[in-house]
Amino acid sequence: MNIYDFTLEELEKLLIENGFKKYNAIQIIEWMYEKKVYDFNKMTNLSKKLIEFCNEKFHFNDLKVVKVEKSTLANKYLLELSDHNKIECVLMNHDYGYSLCVSSQVGCNMGCSFCESGRLKKVRDLTLSELVGQVISVSTYENIRIDSIVVMGIGEPFDNFINIKRFISVVINNKMINIGQRHLTISTCGLVPKIYEFADLETGVNLAVSLHAPNNEIRDKIMKINHAYKIEEVMKALDYYIEKTNRRVTIEYIMLAGINDSDKCAQELSHLVKGKLMYVNLIPYNETSNFTMKRSNDFKIKSFYDILKSNNVNVTIRKEMGGNLSAACGQLRANEMKCLEK
Ligand code: SAH
Repeated sequence: MNIYDFTLEELEKLLIENGFKKYNAIQIIEWMYEKKVYDFNKMTNLSKKLIEFCNEKFHFNDLKVVKVEKSTLANKYLLELSDHNKIECVLMNHDYGYSLCVSSQVGCNMGCSFCESGRLKKVRDLTLSELVGQVISVSTYENIRIDSIVVMGIGEPFDNFINIKRFISVVINNKMINIGQRHLTISTCGLVPKIYEFADLETGVNLAVSLHAPNNEIRDKIMKINHAYKIEEVMKALDYYIEKTNRRVTIEYIMLAGINDSDKCAQELSHLVKGKLMYVNLIPYNETSNFTMKRSNDFKIKSFYDILKSNNVNVTIRKEMGGNLSAACGQLRANEMKCLEK
């Protein structure tokens, strides 16, 4: 078993079941996460019996960094999993620290019409150790401390909710990854039942929602998930989340030329979010060679922004950090698969 597949509680339970003490779990975890010692024989405060047990039962992470693309603002890593599937994550160097964008699945079944990740169907969910492994692999590779995490890479995190919940507990545990809950953001395309469940967790973890359209007519065309959950249902679930947590929700909105970037769309979007504890993040679309969609031009993005502003909506335009990398969601993995297909 991979020892990174355990939350603290799960490791405590397993050790107790095998005749060890509850506090042994914290001892092991301090070595793994704080002291970065990946050899049970070097964990000097463990008993011989416990070291033997661990050597027999566990191994450490086996994610391999197979490709890195670097630019001044962002690096992209292609990681190989033990079954040879590949995933990617992106490290961004913000003025407030390093932020890592992690993947939640191998491929994605949501089928958004503009997104590379969904072009390659879901192969499987990522395990806890693979979620945690992305953080550890990149911070070890670069020898840095990661300050914040966004689950906005390949996959739909709420379609892998069980492991995302466990990941949250490992990220925010101060003996484990130790990143404050306010520095962790989960992005969903809008799986409504899971938004309610997420709200009921009552953590301080941030929620971002890929809305990308101000009405069902447009959203139906570009996001398959809208056939299952309409915008009204998403907004209702977000109202519940806000009521429950009093946390501000990020509304992500990709700017697609001629599709969702008209003045009318900006007015409709304002109407949807106005007066709510929400803010809109306008994302210039990162064009990919596999789709015909184009990004809105800067003038259009600015006028969309101005309309939202004039309606007193909190809005920002996302700084493009990975445009010259294949950093649109799923691009690096997709390119790699193309090479493999040849
Ligand atoms: N499934 C989740 C998280 C992964 S996608 C979600 O839908 O939120 C992360 C974000 O990147 C989403 O908002 C997605 O719509 C967006 N995205 C996908 N392809 C993109 C592209 N080519 N350019 C810009 N953003 C893109």
